[in-house]
Amino acid sequence: MKATMKHPAPPPPTLATDSDFLAAAEALLGPRGLTRDPELMQPWLTDWRGRYTGRALALAQPASTAEVAALMRLCAAHRVPVVPQGGNSGMVGGATPDASGGALLLSLRRMAAIRRLDPAAGLVVCEAGVVLQHLHEAAEAQGLRFPLTLGGKGSATIGGLVSTNAGGTQVLRHGTMRAQVLGLEVVLADGSVLDLLAALKKDNRGFDLKQLFIGSEGTLGIVTAAALRLLPAAAGRATAWVGLGGIKEAGRLLRRMERRLGDVLEGFEVVPAHCLASVLAHQPGARSPLAERHPWNALIECVSPHEDNAALSETLEQALAEALEAGLIADAAIAANEAQAEAFWALRDGISAAERALGPAMQHDISVPVEAMPDFILAAGPAIEAAHPGTRAVAFGHLGDGNVHFHVLAPEGAVRGIWEEAEGKAISAHVHDLVTQWGGSISAEHGIGQMKRDELARLHDPVALGLMRRIKAALDPEGLLNPGKLV
Ligand code: ZN
Repeated sequence: MKATMKHPAPPPPTLATDSDFLAAAEALLGPRGLTRDPELMQPWLTDWRGRYTGRALALAQPASTAEVAALMRLCAAHRVPVVPQGGNSGMVGGATPDASGGALLLSLRRMAAIRRLDPAAGLVVCEAGVVLQHLHEAAEAQGLRFPLTLGGKGSATIGGLVSTNAGGTQVLRHGTMRAQVLGLEVVLADGSVLDLLAALKKDNRGFDLKQLFIGSEGTLGIVTAAALRLLPAAAGRATAWVGLGGIKEAGRLLRRMERRLGDVLEGFEVVPAHCLASVLAHQPGARSPLAERHPWNALIECVSPHEDNAALSETLEQALAEALEAGLIADAAIAANEAQAEAFWALRDGISAAERALGPAMQHDISVPVEAMPDFILAAGPAIEAAHPGTRAVAFGHLGDGNVHFHVLAPEGAVRGIWEEAEGKAISAHVHDLVTQWGGSISAEHGIGQMKRDELARLHDPVALGLMRRIKAALDPEGLLNPGKLV
């Protein structure tokens, strides 16, 4: 839990050049669009995990693309660095300025309009500040759905989701944010506006420039709007909790369900016995869906635009009965109604909070090829526990995406803050080394931000890193866009 708010630090002293810049920015954006009030700035200067706190020259909140463009021209002229921020719900400190106080914090939250929602085209054009939950509601009101969701949907914004190429729990079927983006509007470092919003199914005029900005964490440009795809609303949903003898069986069940269920298979999450026990112990009212304890559990979700709940549940039940018959699974429960499905998901979504209550831990967000993940978990867990005596490695999450959250829990009695400081870096380096040896990624869905920048530099392919730095230098030669992040 975050500490209660202390007295906010005063804004950093202003240089003469800064005061010229601030006067011009205030004239441009008006009093609603620019503030130096420490109380108003303070909530946005710390990331939501509470790991990073920075300072800023001011908080700018432009209301239109034209204002963002004019502001960027001003920043370029005065060489003022800019840190763009969406819902401030990121996991790697990517939207938190550094401690120098020289950067302008740029919030896109006032740009929250849905410019166009076209049900016939299956398309919506959102400004960067639209909150994900709001997009879900707007799509549902038209009998449609936006097929990406995650825990922070009540605060995460479209601009942030694009800039971090967010994932979530439907990636198995629908892909990450990258797969949802049909077009983008981006303000470049020099203030020019790149309009790539036209959503053409076919367009071979050279480079697909919008892909450069997706996942670039605000280091190449400021995403001000996105054209996103919408799907027909779900007619039915079926959710199952499955008990398994091991993670290899979970991998085999995933392949079997993909073949058997096809397009309706939307989520396949794994939960080891240790994580389930933690949630049952810490989450009020939590109940295990199965009578017995199983070494591993899988949470399976199916969604169909055609079949209703009853028909889809029957399909899923039949598929699981066959898996039981084949000796692949030990037990299974199908949610009887929406409330039970929500209860199953609450067990999955409660893992991070429950593990945190147990004590300090080092958390990693990693991927390897989907097929290799069960073997990786079987090899990496014992290797970490042997090298760092007293620790316990747990892996849970998106097996269907080859992405797990790999947490290394501290030995009993370890003191929060001290243990991470003393042991954390070596443990994370060890995890990241193993992931790299297995051909995987040290950041599957959370991004690099400031947290993993050194590790990216240490472990990423030097040719790829060199290319990323050259692209950064070409698009942002003065280094004004989100300095100290990613590259
Ligand atoms: Zn995740």
